[in-house]
Amino acid sequence: MYLRDTIAAVSTPPGNGGIGIVRVSGDKAAAIGDSVFKPMNDGGLLSHRFYFGSICDPKTGATVDEAMAVLMRAPRSYTREDVLELHCHGGWLVLEKALSLILCCGARLADPGEFTRRAFLNGRIDLVQAEAVMDIIGSKTEAALQLAHKQREGLLSRRIEKVRGLILHALALVEAYIDFPEDGLGEADLDTIRKYVDEALSDIGELLDSYDEGLILREGISVLIIGKPNVGKSSLLNRLLNENRAIVTHIPGTTRDIIEEAVNFNGLAVRLLDTAGIRHTEDLVEQEGISRALEKIPLADLVLFVFDASKTFSQEDQLILDALSGRKFIAVLNKSDLPRELLFPPECRFDVQAHISANSGVGVDALKQSVCSCFLHSSNIDRREFIAISRARHRDALLSADRMLRRFSASLGDCNLELLAIDLRDTLEAVGSVTGQTTTDDVLDNIFSSFCIGK
Ligand code: GDP
Repeated sequence: MYLRDTIAAVSTPPGNGGIGIVRVSGDKAAAIGDSVFKPMNDGGLLSHRFYFGSICDPKTGATVDEAMAVLMRAPRSYTREDVLELHCHGGWLVLEKALSLILCCGARLADPGEFTRRAFLNGRIDLVQAEAVMDIIGSKTEAALQLAHKQREGLLSRRIEKVRGLILHALALVEAYIDFPEDGLGEADLDTIRKYVDEALSDIGELLDSYDEGLILREGISVLIIGKPNVGKSSLLNRLLNENRAIVTHIPGTTRDIIEEAVNFNGLAVRLLDTAGIRHTEDLVEQEGISRALEKIPLADLVLFVFDASKTFSQEDQLILDALSGRKFIAVLNKSDLPRELLFPPECRFDVQAHISANSGVGVDALKQSVCSCFLHSSNIDRREFIAISRARHRDALLSADRMLRRFSASLGDCNLELLAIDLRDTLEAVGSVTGQTTTDDVLDNIFSSFCIGK
């Protein structure tokens, strides 16, 4: 029933543009095309040809817009159904009118992500590929885009399929003996099963290890800039942004709220947060800024703790250091152009230190590189075969597969065959849920509802 009706939506973003596209998918797409679109040279719409003509109200004959139309007959279309696209002028009213004509001809308004959901339900793409379509649209950096393209092309799906294949082989051997329990599993078969399971565990482990990097590539990181007033936080922010976004003055306490900006560090999407300077103050507004800055520490993936290297280590520095306990941070020693006075107490140990001059820019590129190195460890991200999982959904499914497979492995040889088979079947289901072979409607609703309408 769900797939029987014909859906329609505006597929281009809201607002004015050069063109706007209305997309229709389903059995009635071709008939709707014939009703609302009049090609210049008459005749019907042949598949995969672009036609110039006009969109007209079938009841009154009134022209709604001059447009281009293309009909893509099933299965050679995005959804594997008949798909009609009308390329109109990109104005909100024009698109609304074209869409309402189509709805009057028997289509219904598509739900968010419904075109892609149909592509999935009709077997054109799997769930990982459907999610990758979203990631392509949302990519903020070249590296994120590359990963999304690889997932859409099926690189991750093929890795998942390989794991499923290994588990299926193991299951086939176990099940063969369920029917003949008196034979028992021989040593040779146990070894073969172990081999399949070990290889599956190692593949799952590799994919799980790739999650942190995959997530970071997809979503980027947040970096908090923190430090006493006047150490050069705003100057550093401006340097990192290459513009004068934050107000730089020599009067301590000028950045009183949090400033947030998005930048790209060598392919890593970074949200930079500049905070109010930390120090003891009677100024209420500034105090509020400071407490907001300290509150943000647990939310940031990384903190840049900025010092004025031309000044000595102070109580306020110690205050910040205490607040940073257990957090990932880089000690940034700014004003390296001035004679150095800063000496850290002996108990202060920093994993990463950067010496910079925010004013001249010296050391800033190296700092960016240090930020990247804190998160992206694979020097092989550019390699063609590099693939990562990038969603909590993938990770959770693989974690439960890993758990069940380990339990299976531990009880292999001394357990009831039926119970062993159950563990393998459950593992198979968990792995299959990544690509959508075994995914419930609730999960699908959840995934596709985050798509935009028209996608
Ligand atoms: P914030 O309060 O920590 O945000 O500090 P600002 O960025 O407003 O800078 C405070 C003062 O330090 C300004 O007068 C800056 O020009 C100066 N400053 C910032 N970075 C450097 C640097 O690398 N070298 C020198 N000599 N002065 C700097």
